Amino acid sequence: MPETMSDTKRVRVELGDRSYDILIGEGLLAEAGTLIAPMVRQPRVFVLTDDTVGGLYADTLSDSLSRAGLAMRMKSVPPGEGSKSWAVLGDVLDWLLSEGAGRDDVLIALGGGIVGDLTGVAASLMKRGMKFVQVPTTLLAQVDSSVGGKTAVNASQGKNLIGAFYQPQLVLADTAALKTLPERERLAGYAEIVKYALIDDPDFFDWLERRGKDVVALDPEALGEAVAVSCAAKARIVSQDETEAGVRALLNLGHTFGHALEAANGFQPSLLHGEAVAAGMALALRYSVRQGLMNGQDADRASRLLESAGLVTQLKRLNGGPYPADRLTEAMKQDKKVRAGRVPLILARGLGQAFIQPDADLSDVREFLNEELQ
Ligand code: NAD
Ligand code: MG
Repeated sequence: MPETMSDTKRVRVELGDRSYDILIGEGLLAEAGTLIAPMVRQPRVFVLTDDTVGGLYADTLSDSLSRAGLAMRMKSVPPGEGSKSWAVLGDVLDWLLSEGAGRDDVLIALGGGIVGDLTGVAASLMKRGMKFVQVPTTLLAQVDSSVGGKTAVNASQGKNLIGAFYQPQLVLADTAALKTLPERERLAGYAEIVKYALIDDPDFFDWLERRGKDVVALDPEALGEAVAVSCAAKARIVSQDETEAGVRALLNLGHTFGHALEAANGFQPSLLHGEAVAAGMALALRYSVRQGLMNGQDADRASRLLESAGLVTQLKRLNGGPYPADRLTEAMKQDKKVRAGRVPLILARGLGQAFIQPDADLSDVREFLNEELQ
């Protein structure tokens, strides 16, 4: 590997003939051309981005591709959840068809989870599947959405309802790109990092207690380590259960409460997904304590880790509120997995000991949430 890549970390996602590498390092964007050139037949690649990310990083990507002899054809969409739509997906497919893109061409997603999800669906549909590379530029996308092959656009009936499991051929996570990310977005991604520690990795939890502040401050060494450990955790779970028939549900730790918070807030930008997940994980752990599954000191340690980074773990102080218990349990009832007042929840027996509780009692959950609001 070239000198500049000596600190590059590699995580393998094992999925048989759909296995792929996640490369993580500072400055990787400038190496994209060399890394992608072996994948293409014709000397060109297609890039989908959003206006913000394109303005910041399209030139670096284009330079790198052209040094490798590849021309870049780019389309940019407005930033925001509105671009994860059927209409924008149609525009992207029209563009690819009019450019004559084929199955052997590579489509690169340059951006956060929104661009990544949209690009993934487009790649899966284009001529029944074209090659697809993720270049995630948010912390959330680097540790979560770019890995694992879930792709989707939104419908008027709800988020992520139209999509496919479609794995990329390569993920390039340039940690230097995170320097321009707004702080709230950075913390939202950090919440998902803490999630992996809480699911099944107590050593990583201890490490985050020591180094979490360096991760949040984007210290290159700590950041690279945290992204790599997170990707390895997700890769491990996805390799066991690609389509969420079982263990992949553990990745939803904090997400049932979190999703209810986002829904109660109307999915407004006043509460970011990761902010909702941080509070949701703290709630899931405190609920586990209340059920006698876990000790209170450990739940407090988890809340302290999140709070020390600047995330909020108390319902009463959370952005975008108030969050009345009734509204939250109403939102939980919309979950397609709810049966007869019972909801699947990810709970924990300790730090790094999460498990799937298939049928938590919603009225009990409502009582708990009311206590949280006292
Ligand atoms: P995002 O893509 O909207 O990015 C957040 C904001 O940051 C945007 O305004 C974007 O333009 C800007 N941005 C991105 N990179 C930047 C950079 N390096 N510097 C400055 N600004 C930058 O949001 P996100 O949090 O990355 O992704 C959220 C989406 O991901 C949601 O739609 C969610 O459903 C999806 N998601 C998917 C999965 C999955 O498994 N597929 C998992 C989690 C989340
Ligand atoms: Mg999430």
